[in-house]
Amino acid sequence: MVRIAVDLNRCQGYAQCAFLAPDVFTMHGEEALLYAPDADEAQLGKVTQAAAACPVQAILVDSMDAPAEAVPGVR
Ligand code: SF4
Repeated sequence: MVRIAVDLNRCQGYAQCAFLAPDVFTMHGEEALLYAPDADEAQLGKVTQAAAACPVQAILVDSMDAPAEAVPGVR
C-alpha cells in the first residue's frame, strides 16, 4: 500500500501529477485536485514520478512495503 498526501495549500493545480498518474490524481475543474490517499503498490512508480514532477513539491509519498531509501523522491 502506498500512502499519498498532497499539501493542497501548496498545490497550484498544474496537473502534472494527474498527467503522470491518472489513476491516483484527477483534476476536478480548473484547480481542484482529487486524489486517492491510499494507492496500490503497483502505482508506486507512477506516483513517485508524479511527486518528482510536481513544480511545488506538494506531493508526499510513503510506501508501506519498500524501504523509503530505496525509492528516490519518497520521504
Ligand atoms: S503536480 Fe503538484 S501542483 Fe500540480 S496538481 Fe499535482 S499536486 Fe498540484
